[in-house]
Amino acid sequence: MLLPAPIQDLIDAFSRLPGVGPKTASRLTFYLLRAPENLSSDLAEALQVLKSGTGNCQRCYNITESERVECEVCSNEERDQSVLCVVEEPLDVLALERTGGFRGRYHVLQGALSPIEGIAPEDLKIRELLGRVQSEEIREIILATNPSMEGDATAMYLRQQLLPLGVRITRLARGLPMGGDLEYADQNTLLRAQAGRQEMDN
Ligand SMILES: [Zn+2]
Repeated sequence: MLLPAPIQDLIDAFSRLPGVGPKTASRLTFYLLRAPENLSSDLAEALQVLKSGTGNCQRCYNITESERVECEVCSNEERDQSVLCVVEEPLDVLALERTGGFRGRYHVLQGALSPIEGIAPEDLKIRELLGRVQSEEIREIILATNPSMEGDATAMYLRQQLLPLGVRITRLARGLPMGGDLEYADQNTLLRAQAGRQEMDN
């Protein structure tokens, strides 16, 4: 069936999103076609500023508003400057913040090591992390990468790199589902994993 180009274009665009197949893409497109005008314009507006309105925190590489140099956590004087929680993605920060159980600050690697996907140490914010440990007064690093093969490999690599710097290194406790994502863990599990974090330096 031949569809008008504006419709086919939107279907194609939706289809490029993760987890959206051709059927869902068509359904969303036709939903928007029938929905009140302001839904489309609100969506268009939000998409327009999504990239231009956001940027990386220059300290922890979490996502933040583009006009800010540092994110809200980094610029909060009341956060513990001596504990750094290392995560893979900004959504992990969000998940840990939701537990309300962590008062330190973060470092967002922007991914995990993966030989299969060709993600090497230099593709992540690892050099920046080591720099922070050397220039900021950090006593403890909590490695909170995902409980997956990639997350574990990343934690092991970071441990090797961090050991010579003489900082305490801990890893979130087990109890998080293996192969899972921090962002999907429930708050209690995350709180327990933080409380039960284990030394990684032996
Ligand atoms: Zn920050």
